[in-house]
Amino acid sequence: MAGDGLGPSTRAVHAGLPEPAQGEPFLPGPVFAAPYHLHGPADATRFSYHRYTNPTWEHLEAALGELEGGEVVVFASGMAAVSAVVLDALAPGDVLVAPSDAYPGIRSIAREHLEPRGVAARLVPTEEGAVRSAIDGATLVWLESPSNPGLDMLDVPALAAEAHAAGAAVAVDNTLAGPLRQRPLTLGADFAVTSASKHITGHSDLVLGYVAVRAAERATALRAWRSTTGAIPGPFEAWLAHRSLATLAVRLERQEANAAALVEMLEAREDVAGVRWPGVGSVVCFTLDGAERAQAFLGALRLVAEATSFGGLHSNAERRARWGTDAVGEGFIRLNVGIEDAPDLVADLERALELSRP
Ligand code: PLP
Repeated sequence: MAGDGLGPSTRAVHAGLPEPAQGEPFLPGPVFAAPYHLHGPADATRFSYHRYTNPTWEHLEAALGELEGGEVVVFASGMAAVSAVVLDALAPGDVLVAPSDAYPGIRSIAREHLEPRGVAARLVPTEEGAVRSAIDGATLVWLESPSNPGLDMLDVPALAAEAHAAGAAVAVDNTLAGPLRQRPLTLGADFAVTSASKHITGHSDLVLGYVAVRAAERATALRAWRSTTGAIPGPFEAWLAHRSLATLAVRLERQEANAAALVEMLEAREDVAGVRWPGVGSVVCFTLDGAERAQAFLGALRLVAEATSFGGLHSNAERRARWGTDAVGEGFIRLNVGIEDAPDLVADLERALELSRP
């Protein structure tokens, strides 16, 4: 089902399902196989060995492709997807422009694997002027919008147009917004990269990633990279992801409604600073006065687990500075808002804020 013109829940529920067939399930179960029977000619079947492809991935890729408006290649994790794009697209002498203040994975790859191989990295903050001034001479411009954890937003169509005019390809890490809220390929990106460990799967129980592209040859190159490096998802993870996709729209709607209620409460308090929420997705950030207060707050929460990651339907939060990877204050909290009832979450945060007052 192509899905254009249909609402987000309708698209998410029906995405990637095979044509109805008598006696068959709606979503075929996961196929567990390393090798497959191969007694015909070499091209008799696409399925020969799990590292090359698997029917369960193909259903998920079709589903995600419908939501993204492009061709999708799934990977073992978000970082496997990130690595596939940069390590396949960049060669010695090339220049990568990437965020200095977004998810640290791309910076680590640039520092530890690209620069030693002769790919220059220009790391710039998630801010339009800074990105624009780094584009000239770039091979690949990597954007993250909204960014994690700063939740900064970029004008993706304008930057993509400038990058293309300068001869660069454009990748957008769309993990925070996801394909129901932002479709980078329709905004001009060549690659839309997503950690499906977050909202896409949404239950905090697996790690997965994918890349969506417009050009068929890019999909072919990414599949070849995946087969060669073995950065492949397991069939059960892929099946769980497809199953979870059906509730993506309702989960997001509830998470966003809860986030709005929490933002209203947090903004009204004089002991909470810098409340940020981009209006989409489940991540809300704010700052408390110092590490000690922030830890006391996290420890006093009853419904919100102290844990990293986001997008899952259980609320969780962390003091981001604990990792030492981001330029944030010691009391900076990254909160993932789950699908619990809003009044319960508001009451839990208010209680923890009161209990943690110095
Ligand atoms: N991109 C962003 C924006 C992320 O937040 C993350 C993980 O937190 C990743 C990529 C990496 O994804 P994964 O943990 O699935 O490898």
